[in-house]
Amino acid sequence: MTSFDTDAIVIGAGPAGAAVATRLARAGARVLMLDKNVFPRDKPCGDFCAPDALTEIEELGIGELPAFRNRHHIAFGALFVEGDHIVTSPMPAGGGSVIPRLELDAWLCKAAVAAGADLHEGVTFLRYGAVENGVEIDVRTSGGERRIRGRCLFGADGSASLVARQLRGAGVAEENRIIAVRAYFAGVEGPQDVCDLHFSAKAFPGYLWVFPCGSHRANVGLGIAHKTLPQEKPHLRSLLESMMRENSAVSTRLKDAQACSEFEAWPLATYDARLPVADGRVLLLGDAAGFIHPLTGEGIQYALLSARFAAEELARGGWHDAACGYSRSIRREFERDLGVARAAGRVISNRTMGGLWMELLRIFGSQARTDERYARLMGGIMAGVTPTQVAFSREALLGTMRAAARRMRRADLVATLDGAREACLAMRARPNETRAWARSSASAALDAVMAFVSPETAAR
Ligand SMILES: Cc1cc2nc3c(=O)[nH]c(=O)nc-3n(C[C@H](O)[C@H](O)[C@H](O)COP(=O)(O)OP(=O)(O)OC[C@H]3O[C@@H](n4cnc5c(N)ncnc54)[C@H](O)[C@@H]3O)c2cc1C
Repeated sequence: MTSFDTDAIVIGAGPAGAAVATRLARAGARVLMLDKNVFPRDKPCGDFCAPDALTEIEELGIGELPAFRNRHHIAFGALFVEGDHIVTSPMPAGGGSVIPRLELDAWLCKAAVAAGADLHEGVTFLRYGAVENGVEIDVRTSGGERRIRGRCLFGADGSASLVARQLRGAGVAEENRIIAVRAYFAGVEGPQDVCDLHFSAKAFPGYLWVFPCGSHRANVGLGIAHKTLPQEKPHLRSLLESMMRENSAVSTRLKDAQACSEFEAWPLATYDARLPVADGRVLLLGDAAGFIHPLTGEGIQYALLSARFAAEELARGGWHDAACGYSRSIRREFERDLGVARAAGRVISNRTMGGLWMELLRIFGSQARTDERYARLMGGIMAGVTPTQVAFSREALLGTMRAAARRMRRADLVATLDGAREACLAMRARPNETRAWARSSASAALDAVMAFVSPETAAR
């Protein structure tokens, strides 16, 4: 008989780890939560909590916290393309919030401890191995290395997860990586309840964000697919700063603003349906599993939801069947949304077509200006409340085609065709890159199609 130190070992006390620890402890399990940092700790992020994330956070028992109730509310999202304001739309589902992670993660961590989880900080996970009916792990503490045994291991150790690396036998592939940088600014002008998204061919696929977080402060950052980071300006911070200067809409908003934090960069790992999210007694949650929306870079809600699905599966099937049940839930709940987003992300990762993608964004925006339902659909995708596949629904496609036809009636058609011609010539000049792009887009599109025909996802 194996003796266990605990039932559940959770590596990482960020949103995913704290959420699963809270839910399991509430259900009566013995939970050991380990983090290499000491809370409150900061985590580079845009800090935008989508409506679904807020619902999960409330359920975790911090809805009544005065600081949570007084959080900074975001009611609108504004879209800019190459500095031109395209549209400002109300955020769906009651809006979101910008909550600095220094605060949010500390609240979630406290909630887990209040529910009964045992938190150990300053403990670094090193490796795991299987034992009969359980898992044992090695960790490094201030007193040296230690071995701990549990019935189940939850890898919630973020985008550079060691648990995921061991489970999958490899790190994150370059095509699944986003790199992002952010800093806080004080003295930010303009409406405080509007999140701005700025798109430019210079940093695409990706965007620059200005997310107000209260008292004229804002979280300002830039995220971009790693593969398309411009060669000539490899330093992400200098790219962000040059865009802040050159983009008139951003420079107006930040006219008298001062940076009041360091610029911090951080990698993100996006969703890849071909990679396992669980094996035996080991489950990956949140960023460790790559639950990041490939188009928006949002991950807080997926981290919290994956924790819920894991806890629900354990309650249903017990420790021994956790991996199968959890993998099924993830496929059912995430695969269509994140799979379609991934395929779209691959298609738009062709930088030679940057001008065309900007034109497409202008088309989306111009339709959203005149069509409230369309604005809700597209805004819902950006805010993380509407699944990405809705962009391909009949209603959304008709709206996009109507807006495209309107733009074509104006002289824009010539510019669009010129752009397309130039992109084709540029692609012909780089046959290897073009072939690699076409292959990777086709493979992601095939995965997305499979998510719609597979019986595992059919229940959705
Ligand atoms: C710049 C940037 C902007 C973003 N903006 C947004 C946004 O606006 N909205 C949104 O929804 N998402 C955003 N995201 C994504 C979001 O930050 C993540 O999805 C979210 O943090 C995932 O939570 P998590 O609990 O999975 O991982 P994390 O929050 O990364 O927590 C992982 C924890 O594991 C610990 N850990 C790591 N390794 C070990 C180890 N070996 N041993 C012990 N402990 C370990 C870490 O200390 C950390 O506390 C952004 C990401 C970046 C980088």
